[in-house]
Amino acid sequence: MEKVVIIGSGCAGLTAAIYTARANLEPLVLTGAMPGGLLTTTSIVENFPGFAKGIDGTELMMEMQHQAERFGARIQFGSAVDAIDFSGSQLKLTVDGNEVETQTVVIASGAGHRHLGLESEAKLEKKGVTYCATCDGALPMFRDQPLVVVGGGDSACEEATYLTRFASKVYLVHRRDELRASKIMAERTLSHDKIEMVWNSEVTEVTDVEQDKVTGVKVRNTSGDERTIDCAGLFIAIGHVPNTQLFQGVIDMDDAGYILPKRGQETNVTGVFVAGDCSDKVYRQAVTAAGQGCAAAIEAERYLASLDQ
Ligand code: NAP
Repeated sequence: MEKVVIIGSGCAGLTAAIYTARANLEPLVLTGAMPGGLLTTTSIVENFPGFAKGIDGTELMMEMQHQAERFGARIQFGSAVDAIDFSGSQLKLTVDGNEVETQTVVIASGAGHRHLGLESEAKLEKKGVTYCATCDGALPMFRDQPLVVVGGGDSACEEATYLTRFASKVYLVHRRDELRASKIMAERTLSHDKIEMVWNSEVTEVTDVEQDKVTGVKVRNTSGDERTIDCAGLFIAIGHVPNTQLFQGVIDMDDAGYILPKRGQETNVTGVFVAGDCSDKVYRQAVTAAGQGCAAAIEAERYLASLDQ
């Protein structure tokens, strides 16, 4: 019987692991398909306290992982939870086909990239359509080519700025006439001489499915005018959707799938706590996820202590 199982290995999950490991609870961390979570797909993290010069996202997550392991956390890589049964007093998870029983669970399953929902987008994914500039931006197919980024938040600005290192030019397509991004990111983007804004426009099609590679994107502006922008790649950065499908019908969540904590980091199921992007659609920062992971760990620890009394 496990004392603590943590689902997810982003900032929230690994911080919960550090705290529960230091409380001698030997947490089991199930990393899921993306060890380290979404932060491993960013380049430099400039706003995590303690790193005055910024830190590479993957490096930050590796440090957190080693910190958790140092105190006894067990990290199970690639492990996915196939099913849950929270109906009894012991919480049951099916992990890679095996049943795991545990007294507490911290759900820190994070969020995934939102898709535009176009048929051509799906057909050309990994053939020029991507959701991660840091992962794919340096690929030879994108070098010295015009590239298109879609979105208007911090992610889109970050991706567009990052891609200027490789691209001949970056078009940033946004559906409104102002960026949602933070002031500093927006200013950096708007003043970059390699970035051209395409305002009030949405991508309607990615070409060319016939050629099985990206050759351009068709965009339509709010006046109904259409044009094609020739490009070798489309980088989609339009936000995220919480990874909570597994818990639907069992854990309380809102219509968008964000888990709704009952009090602090507690969920509606006793012994199950939540932290990070899977329950946060307001702040969604590395440091707030870490804070929630810490709080969830402390609550799990107190809950376990109350069982012994
Ligand atoms: P976001 O802030 O939710 O922005 C998503 C953007 O995509 C919005 O501009 C939105 O348009 C647009 N969008 C959404 N659905 C769309 C669709 N179907 N078609 C076209 N455009 C669509 O998401 P984010 O940029 O990923 O940022 C998420 C959180 O992470 C934020 O809190 C952000 O501050 C944080 N973050 C921080 C950093 C950093 O500090 N270095 C870096 C990345 C992310 P509208 O504006 O019209 O809604």
